[in-house]
Amino acid sequence: MTDAVPRAVVAALDDPFAQLTGPLADTRKLRFEVASTATLTPHVQRLELTAAELAGFSYQPGQDVMVLVAAEGRKPVRRRYTIRSFDRMARMITIDVVLHGDGPGERWVRSARPGDRIEGIGPRGKIFTDPAADWHLFMGDESALPAIQAMTESLPGDADATLVLEVPEAADEQEVLAAARTRVSWLHRLGRPAGDASALAAEATEVELPPGNGRAYLLGEARVVLAMREVLAGRGLPAEQMSPKAYWGRGRANAGHGEPTRDG
Ligand SMILES: Cc1cc2nc3c(=O)[nH]c(=O)nc-3n(C[C@H](O)[C@H](O)[C@H](O)COP(=O)(O)OP(=O)(O)OC[C@H]3O[C@@H](n4cnc5c(N)ncnc54)[C@H](O)[C@@H]3O)c2cc1C
Repeated sequence: MTDAVPRAVVAALDDPFAQLTGPLADTRKLRFEVASTATLTPHVQRLELTAAELAGFSYQPGQDVMVLVAAEGRKPVRRRYTIRSFDRMARMITIDVVLHGDGPGERWVRSARPGDRIEGIGPRGKIFTDPAADWHLFMGDESALPAIQAMTESLPGDADATLVLEVPEAADEQEVLAAARTRVSWLHRLGRPAGDASALAAEATEVELPPGNGRAYLLGEARVVLAMREVLAGRGLPAEQMSPKAYWGRGRANAGHGEPTRDG
């Protein structure tokens, strides 16, 4: 029963999120307890987290929770992980976390055991599927897979979804079960470094952009997201039809509030 950050340290934090006001007005504090942790694929660990505050919790597929993984002195270090699924009866959310190497988030995930506690805030995030879109294009790396899966699964049966997903290797592929008409392309990095834009940018030049008011959701490493966005813009897709979101920055730790640093 270990606390990710000891309670005495939490109490003394100089915490910008001590009050859930402004953009956090629709969120709540979630005192999570780890219910289970298991290997999902070679590079992804799946954790189930329970919290009493999940009673009456609601969220939109694609939203995330922010967890307090460490403290640097009095500074909180938070990381954001997408809600892969939510079991309302069990008051439990599932998160899928990439094991990429090292970082305070990864260290907590690797050490977490059932019964361990961690403070969360959620739901967070502003990228959802657009119900008015004629088609949906999702492109991203393994950090975006939970969001892309959750959003794709939420689409109705008459929706069209194209998924272009980059993962380290074939064993990191996951089944995509969705009611929508769904086409999935897997790209394997096979030794290329994570955050290398070449494969996803190349796919962005080739992927079909059907006529109509479609929407492209571009998620993952900051420069890869930018590269995909530039390619699609060059092909004439207007900015208002794109939902880009940087999840991490290659070679740079995310900031204490869980987002990539600006130049990362
Ligand atoms: C809204 C949102 C939702 C997110 N959802 C998820 C999710 O569901 N699952 C998930 O795994 N991640 C998700 N992320 C990304 C995750 O928060 C970051 O990857 C975070 O940086 C991990 O923290 P860390 O402490 O392990 O590494 P950090 O301390 O941030 O970084 C340490 C080093 O690791 C590198 N690094 C960080 N992340 C990765 C990665 N994915 N691949 C390769 N290298 C990396 C950095 O470049 C840096 O060099 C999300 C991010 C956001 C903003």
